[in-house]
Amino acid sequence: MSGEMVCVHHAATVSEADIVTAWLEEQGVPAFVKNRLTAETLPIDGLRSKRGIEVCVADDETAEQAKILLEKHDRQVEAEHPLPVDDLLIDTTCDACNAVLSFPLSSAGSTETCPDCGEYLDIPEM
Ligand SMILES: [Zn+2]
Repeated sequence: MSGEMVCVHHAATVSEADIVTAWLEEQGVPAFVKNRLTAETLPIDGLRSKRGIEVCVADDETAEQAKILLEKHDRQVEAEHPLPVDDLLIDTTCDACNAVLSFPLSSAGSTETCPDCGEYLDIPEM
């Protein structure tokens, strides 16, 4: 044992830290929440301004393993939950008043009303 524990993940909440820890252990990587006791007694707002709750493992070797697993896990989550289309925006300029406007991708190819001058404007296709 080198005795040096390594932080592999910063969770925003205690429950997120617990999920990550449990998940890592399921993958055969022993992990623990470093500042759990402190975290539970701190108000959430105080936590958010700090580094969050640290999920740690015992040594560098385990940390490498954990990081690879976590990266893989993140990619899986992204693949399973792609960004909602409405989070993507199309920028267009109003022909009537030159206002630069952003519309959700779902509006592509449709006609909207300019919020600045009230004229109709065509949203370009992507
Ligand atoms: Zn306009």
